Amino acid sequence: MSQDRSDSSSKSLSFPEERILLGPGPSPVPQRVLRALGAPTLGHLDPQYVAIMDETCAMLREVFQTRNPLTFPVSGTGMAGMECVAVNLVEPGDEVIVCVNGVFGGRMKDVMERCGAIVHAVEAPWGEIIPHEAIDAALEQFPKTKLVGIVHAETSTGAHQPLVGLADLVHAKGALLLVDAVTSLGGHELKVDEWGIDAIYSGTQKCLSCPPGLAPVSFGERALARMDARKTKPQSWYLDVSMLRKYYVGGGGGGRVYHHTAPINMTYALREALAIVLEEGLPQRIARHERMHQRLRRGLEAMGLSYIPKHSLHTLNCISIPAGADDAGVRRRLLEEYGIEIGAGLGVMAGKAWRIGLMGHGSTVRNVDLVLTALREILG
Ligand SMILES: *Cc1c(COP(=O)(O)O)cnc(C)c1O
Repeated sequence: MSQDRSDSSSKSLSFPEERILLGPGPSPVPQRVLRALGAPTLGHLDPQYVAIMDETCAMLREVFQTRNPLTFPVSGTGMAGMECVAVNLVEPGDEVIVCVNGVFGGRMKDVMERCGAIVHAVEAPWGEIIPHEAIDAALEQFPKTKLVGIVHAETSTGAHQPLVGLADLVHAKGALLLVDAVTSLGGHELKVDEWGIDAIYSGTQKCLSCPPGLAPVSFGERALARMDARKTKPQSWYLDVSMLRKYYVGGGGGGRVYHHTAPINMTYALREALAIVLEEGLPQRIARHERMHQRLRRGLEAMGLSYIPKHSLHTLNCISIPAGADDAGVRRRLLEEYGIEIGAGLGVMAGKAWRIGLMGHGSTVRNVDLVLTALREILG
């Protein structure tokens, strides 16, 4: 009897029931990516592995639409990407502007403060975008600003922040533009070079549909110059790009210098996930995210549900919980009866919003129609 129980419990722990991940991340991971994870683990200086890493970085450049040589996956999740960019570009006492209209802008402010920055927050109500004029006014008001940080896809509210033209305003004042693209990379149009973005980070488990664990980052020339001119070492040893680049880009003579052991099998998974993105084609993938968002939106609005942000992401749909609906009860039934995960409201939207993610591999007609049917049945 006890053997039976241990059998079934070890089975369920090793092979949890599959879910349809339509929350704020992670998104569903294709079998191809899961299989790639199981390839033989290599040494991190093995020429085979170095070739895989080089190819991964080259594909990241394509997906970021950049030529930046310093483009690589940081070992860690999206937040590690945020910390990496902040800790390398900010020195204690630097003045920076951070745009805050949701949880992740708030986190960026916190991270910058921990780096010793004097942070001037440009705020907008949750669910709204930050007008470029407000950023320009802050740059006028704080002329010593060295960097402007902004979230492209605010996953906590579903707001889609426009970025085109922003770099011109920021560069005119001698500052750098830093962008959080965790929930936009691979799902929304994002052109690092054309848009003049100086530093950017993302994560693997949102629109790239890879498990969580790596944070793609890219640094442009201005950001490199800023890092090279630092008077102090970054507070973080682990995330110090001056050392990391000797491994990811190669040291003098092209050799690789050990810093930390790269998460080998996660690199295989990311490489495979990026291959899938590029096989589909970036423009096609972005168009698919838009179509699926429109399909979901039509269905939700026909049921009388309404979107909170005016400028909605295609990758994350943030809707008001209808009056009388039991927030946790509805989400529990979605999970237990349909195997569907959606997200609860975060921060000031807790209890007020549901967040339906349509990211990467999860953004399909099947999933849209399934979640609409399930919600229609549950909400009756
Ligand atoms: C998910 C997310 C992060 C954090 O990523 P983790 O992988 O959870 O560390 C940062 N910014 C945004 C906009 C996100 O959606």
